[in-house]
Amino acid sequence: MSVIDELKNIRARDIPYSRVLSSMCTYPHHVAIEAHNLFLGTNLGDPGIFTGTRELEEKLISILGKILHYENAEGYICSGGTEANIQAIRAARNILKGRNVVIPESAHFSFEKIGDILGVEVRRARLDRDYRVDIDNVESLVDDETVAITGIAGTTELGQIDPIDDLSKLAVEKNIPLHVDAAFGGLILPFMNRRIPFDFELDGVASITIDPHKMGMATIPAGGIFFRDKKFIEALEIETPYLTSERQYTLTGTRPGTGVASAYAVLKHLGAEGMKKITEGCLEKTSILVEELSQIGLETVIEPIINVVCFRCRNADRIKEELYRRRWVISTIRKPEAIRLVVMPHVDDEVVSNFTSELKKVIKIV
Ligand SMILES: *Cc1c(COP(=O)(O)O)cnc(C)c1O
Repeated sequence: MSVIDELKNIRARDIPYSRVLSSMCTYPHHVAIEAHNLFLGTNLGDPGIFTGTRELEEKLISILGKILHYENAEGYICSGGTEANIQAIRAARNILKGRNVVIPESAHFSFEKIGDILGVEVRRARLDRDYRVDIDNVESLVDDETVAITGIAGTTELGQIDPIDDLSKLAVEKNIPLHVDAAFGGLILPFMNRRIPFDFELDGVASITIDPHKMGMATIPAGGIFFRDKKFIEALEIETPYLTSERQYTLTGTRPGTGVASAYAVLKHLGAEGMKKITEGCLEKTSILVEELSQIGLETVIEPIINVVCFRCRNADRIKEELYRRRWVISTIRKPEAIRLVVMPHVDDEVVSNFTSELKKVIKIV
């Protein structure tokens, strides 16, 4: 057997996305795959060699900056939301030189890594009844040592949006940077009919995480970190004596151009109209799931705002395990006990109908 046949066999053991309702990633768009292949082997860690790829990154940064209401935003394409969040808090810590960061209880687990790596204390603010961060609690946790406060635009578990406008006001009042983790929401909120301000149009927002490898349908890895002020980028810089550049502000050294090319291709190819269509499709499928599952008595934890939805139910983990035995992948949350579904572009009508009929069977036997 050739090594390629061996690889094909191994790859066939992965579960296809058409049976996955837990992941915030999806099949890359076909135009992303083509773009990715054209940029295989490119290394943005050495930009003096890959001058074309570097120009492309600048173009993509300005497109994403425009989407985030600030064309002149500074930023770069990184490995994902985790790196983006690390870099945002690292820059803020280097500038403010404090010892703690205030985040919502609903923040992504990448903030645990941040506490460990950066040696800052991670203070978790309570959520209100709707699972949005409680502003008064955030305010009470902020002190002279706080380097940043954080809001989430599209929480990982519930898809909830924190009151970013109120957090922004608080950030301005306290003169502390507000970091917005829009790793997931950043490429869906701008294309929704309902307008929810979360980006640089709010004065207090200093940095934003936005991941093309989630709703941007780019190839993995493609994350994004954006700053309003160049001094945040400068606060990350170190000298790079033996490269074609003199300084580097990225966390990783060698850095693929494939994510840049694939993210750029999708946004250019689809345009705002195409992105709106994809967004509407995901929201429509989310509504269908809510309706279908309400027929068997399942209620949502919050009315879904984006394409993430949780249904309160007992034995959520047993349901998840039984579905997994049947090669369907969902996830669960604990507070409150619920099953969690992410309705990515690969969740089409057929996936919805196959999944709901399987879930109905599983719920009966569990
Ligand atoms: C996905 C996600 C992350 C982490 O992103 P990775 O690309 O997995 O590193 C961080 N924050 C939020 C809100 C996310 O949805």
